[in-house]
Amino acid sequence: MSTLIYWFRNDLRLSDNPAFAQACLNAEHLLPVYVHDCKEQKTVYGFERQGLHRKTFLRASLDDLRVELQAQGSDLLELYGEPQVILQKLLTDTVAKSVYCEQIEAPEEMELVRVLRDQGMDIREFWQSSMLEPQDLPFALEKMPDMFTAFRREVERAQLKFAKPIPTPQHIPALPAFLPQGSILPSSTQSFAHPYFLGGASHAQTHLKQYLERRLPDDYKETRNQLIGMDYSSKFSAWLALGCISVRDIAAQLNEYENCYGANDGTYWLWFELLWRDYFRFIHFKYGQSLYRAGGLTGLPVKPSSLASFEQWRSGNTGTELVDAGVRELHHTGYLSNRMRQIVASYWIYDMNGDWRAGAAWFESQLIDYDVYSNQGNWLYIAGRGTDPRGGRPFNVAKQTQDHDPHGVYRKLWLSAG
Ligand SMILES: Cc1cc2nc3c(=O)[nH]c(=O)nc-3n(C[C@H](O)[C@H](O)[C@H](O)COP(=O)(O)OP(=O)(O)OC[C@H]3O[C@@H](n4cnc5c(N)ncnc54)[C@H](O)[C@@H]3O)c2cc1C
Repeated sequence: MSTLIYWFRNDLRLSDNPAFAQACLNAEHLLPVYVHDCKEQKTVYGFERQGLHRKTFLRASLDDLRVELQAQGSDLLELYGEPQVILQKLLTDTVAKSVYCEQIEAPEEMELVRVLRDQGMDIREFWQSSMLEPQDLPFALEKMPDMFTAFRREVERAQLKFAKPIPTPQHIPALPAFLPQGSILPSSTQSFAHPYFLGGASHAQTHLKQYLERRLPDDYKETRNQLIGMDYSSKFSAWLALGCISVRDIAAQLNEYENCYGANDGTYWLWFELLWRDYFRFIHFKYGQSLYRAGGLTGLPVKPSSLASFEQWRSGNTGTELVDAGVRELHHTGYLSNRMRQIVASYWIYDMNGDWRAGAAWFESQLIDYDVYSNQGNWLYIAGRGTDPRGGRPFNVAKQTQDHDPHGVYRKLWLSAG
C-alpha cells in the first residue's frame, strides 16, 4: 500500500466511478486533485476555449465534489498550471507512486497522458464514460460499423443495454501527511449561477429523480424536438459532460423506471440517444486523430471563411431570425436544443460557407455540456466529413422555422433578449 494521486478529469463524482474506486482500494493515502489547465486558454479565433457558462458550471461541480469528499474525511486539491508540471511536482512532494484517472480517448487528452508517461510517471487510466463496456461489444472497436444504424442493430442483437454501475467507495483513504497548497478560483466566476443547470453530482441526482418522478420519459419521443423549456428533453447532457453523473447510472435508473411503469417509445428513444453518445465515443477509438483533420474522414477541402461572417454568426446577427435566436439562446444560457444546434450549425456551414471547425470551436467555448466526442462527432456529421456516407446534413431554415417555430414564439423570446 502506498500514496496515490487521483486526478479528476471529466468524472466529477464518487458514485459509479471505477477509476476512483480502484484508487481507494489500492492506496494507503490518497490525494484527490483537479488541475485547471492554464495553457492555451484562447482559440485561434481569439475567444476563450472555456466561456463563462462552462466555467461557472465547472466551479459549482468542483465545489459539490469537494463537499462530498470532505464528508468522507478527504478533500479536493485544486491547482492551476500545466498538468505535466503540476502532477510531476505533486508526485515528488507527496512521494506518490502513481496517478489514477479516467481515460479520455481524444487527441489532446491522449497527448497529455503520453507526455506524462514520457516524463516517467506511472499513469493508470480507466475507460468509464460510455454506457456499454467496449469489451462487451459484439465486434472489436477497430471493426465497429461506421453507420450508427448498423452499430445500433448489432448492439440490440447482442441484447446489450448498459454496464452495471458500481457503488460509492465505503472508505476513502486519508490524505497524505504533506499537503501542497491549493486554491479556489477568483470569486468573479462564482457570481453567475444558471437558474436551471446547477453543477455537481448532488444536483445531477436531484434533476434525474424529478425527471423520472414526473414521468417525463414517457413523452420524450414526442417532445424532444421542441425548443422552449426544461422538460421537452432530458437535459442530462451538462452533468454527463463533466461526469457529475455516470451514463450507466442514468441507464440503470431508466431501466428501473421501465420495470416499474413499462417500457415505451419514450424510454426507448432516450436509450437510443444515449447510444448515439456511446457511438461517438467508440468512433474515436476507431479513427482517432483523423476525426480532427479539416476534411475529417473525407478528402474534402475547407474554404477559409471570413472573420466578419463568423462574427455575424456567432453574435447572432446574420439577419436570419431563427438562427440568430438560437445563437443568442446559446450565448445567454450555455445550452441549446439538439434541433437548434443542427439548424445553426447547418446554417454556418451551408448558407454562410463557414469553416465547420470554427463553428465547433464556438460551441466548445459556449456549451455547458461541451463534450469532445459528441461535439466533434455531430459537427463532422452535419459537415459530411464523418462516417456517414450520405454526405452532409443541410437544413432548410424556412422549413425548420415553419415546422418548429410557426408562431415565432421562440424567435421573439431570444431576439428580444438582445
Ligand atoms: C452541432 C452539434 C454539437 C453538439 N455538441 C454536443 C456536445 O458538445 N455535448 C453533448 O453532450 N451533446 C452535443 N450535441 C448533441 C445533442 O444536441 C445534445 O446532447 C442534447 O441536445 C443535450 O440535451 P439533452 O440532454 O436534453 O438531450 P436529450 O435529447 O434528452 O438526450 C439524452 C442524452 O442523449 C445524448 N444525446 C442526445 N443526442 C445526441 C447526439 N446527437 N449526439 C450525442 N449524444 C446525444 C446526450 O448525452 C443527452 O444528454 C451536439 C449536437 C449538435 C447537432
